[in-house]
Amino acid sequence: MTRRMRYHCCQKALDPELTEVFINTELYARVSVAVMFHKLADMADLVRSAGENMNSLAALASGKMFLLELLNLVVNDKDLAKELYKKYSAIHRRKIRAWQMICVLSRFVDQDNVEKVTSSLHISIYRSNLPSVRQYMETFAIQIYLKFPLLVGQQLVPLLRNYNLRPQALSSYVFIAANIILHAKEEIQSRHLDELFPPIIPLLTSHHHTLRGFTQILVYHVLQKLLPASDCGSSFTMSLEKKCFEDLKSYLAHNSDCARLRASMDGYIDAFDPMKSSLPAGIFTDRVEELEFECVPATLMDRVINFLNDTREDLRCSMAKDAVSIKNESFRTNEDPKCTEILNSNEGELLIPLPKDISYDFQRKISFPKHDMQEMASTSFWDNKSSYISLLDIENEDQLLDNLLHSRSVVMEKLSASRQQIILVASLIDRIPNLAGLARTCEVFRAAGLAVADKTILKDKQFQLISVTAEKWVPVMEVPERSMKFFLEKKKKEGFALFGLEQTANSVPLDRCVFPTKTVLVLGREKEGIPVEIIHMLDSCVEIPQLGVVRSLNVHVSGAIALWEYTRQQISQ
Ligand code: SAH
Repeated sequence: MTRRMRYHCCQKALDPELTEVFINTELYARVSVAVMFHKLADMADLVRSAGENMNSLAALASGKMFLLELLNLVVNDKDLAKELYKKYSAIHRRKIRAWQMICVLSRFVDQDNVEKVTSSLHISIYRSNLPSVRQYMETFAIQIYLKFPLLVGQQLVPLLRNYNLRPQALSSYVFIAANIILHAKEEIQSRHLDELFPPIIPLLTSHHHTLRGFTQILVYHVLQKLLPASDCGSSFTMSLEKKCFEDLKSYLAHNSDCARLRASMDGYIDAFDPMKSSLPAGIFTDRVEELEFECVPATLMDRVINFLNDTREDLRCSMAKDAVSIKNESFRTNEDPKCTEILNSNEGELLIPLPKDISYDFQRKISFPKHDMQEMASTSFWDNKSSYISLLDIENEDQLLDNLLHSRSVVMEKLSASRQQIILVASLIDRIPNLAGLARTCEVFRAAGLAVADKTILKDKQFQLISVTAEKWVPVMEVPERSMKFFLEKKKKEGFALFGLEQTANSVPLDRCVFPTKTVLVLGREKEGIPVEIIHMLDSCVEIPQLGVVRSLNVHVSGAIALWEYTRQQISQ
């Protein structure tokens, strides 16, 4: 792939939103698992029908196992059981993800496990949790009680009458109860109204603002839907209860505070759709908070699911590929002569079009179009349809792994060949955000490699959040501080120029520095910078001119500026 081709790839993004999400494999994986659970439930539905077979029985058994396993986790796992956790923290994310999957698995709640399931559910509802987590518990509960209406009287009514229950838990039970009344089958709706409405009404007087407001909204919706306007003329003939409900209904409908409260929570009640809420598309739609957190815009979700349905085999292979790449992560820097030849083939004219009028400028999402990936693997196994179809047949056979390994090494060789011959040495850096940021920057500018002191940080969640999978694509080498000297000497012998990015007595301003094509760039420690004994090994130090009073830039920012300057020089050669 020539430099020109790579540039044009960057220029034209295929459906940026879709691939951007796919690039974030975590979400990709989660959507796939949700769809898989859903498909598993479809298969399990064949049990006890004419279509029952070994697969459907196995699907039912494994679905139930996944469900109980996840419920056991949310009740007993030390993190997932936590009641105090920060919003948007890793624990918050894990809780949401666990309950999202539990919702999709709600179809596996069966006569033989419903007791166990509901006891875990009530333990979780009782515990304090953020609304964005609680919403999934409520969705799961509603699914269960709509499926097992007899449990409403046995379990829900006594809970609603436990007036000393935590207001947060009571609010959830009121929401669950109201939705069961609103979404129950017609023939049992009035029975649910009869058993659930009486214990809900007193909560209209709760001293707990949220619980009271919440109950008002729910009672309003139930009365609007199920208590038609009275048609018996004068109120004299009306029963006392009826009169009370009539007045309650008109109060809730016309009182300005109630109306304002309803407006502020508009769409909250309607957001719950029993049919959709536990489907993959439903669980990734958030009804409480802003749409972003751990969710997927509905439009994208549909496309993801269609994509998954269409290209499931593709997905299976790419996940296998990921697994192989993680295994083969010890990527060595490619020094074959072809690199220099590609580098020297550049025509040197400036390729960056400057936007004419800034006001029309808008953010453009860069993504690596899927078809290019396949194109890169042109010599590999993928191209002819027939071998692709046999892939499904031979999926578990070693041949698939060999083919994948082969195509993988071809792709990685091409990728490495087209990498820029600059290596960033970040062995002195220990803050994860800086290292993760540098990994992303190195990937974006196709650096030949990034050296870090300890590679186990690649597994760190915070690292992965910031690096957005860059560590899968850019070669990361483990160079502990004690072996930096050896590493630099070795690179020197391999023809690399050794540069330091540091403010030193003799450092060259970046705008007057010309980077040799083969460059190793050493970055300093967050506070102390580059130790003098390392500086003495370097050919030169580069300094980014500063105009302000703050002593220095952040090391990741400095590294990014220097890497862009190197890239700019290579491009304009
Ligand atoms: N020399 C800095 C050291 C800490 S900054 C100081 O005395 O405060 C951390 C690292 O960021 C430095 O080691 C260097 O690699 C990089 N850095 C920060 N500001 C820089 C600048 N203006 N020019 C070059 N590198 C810089």
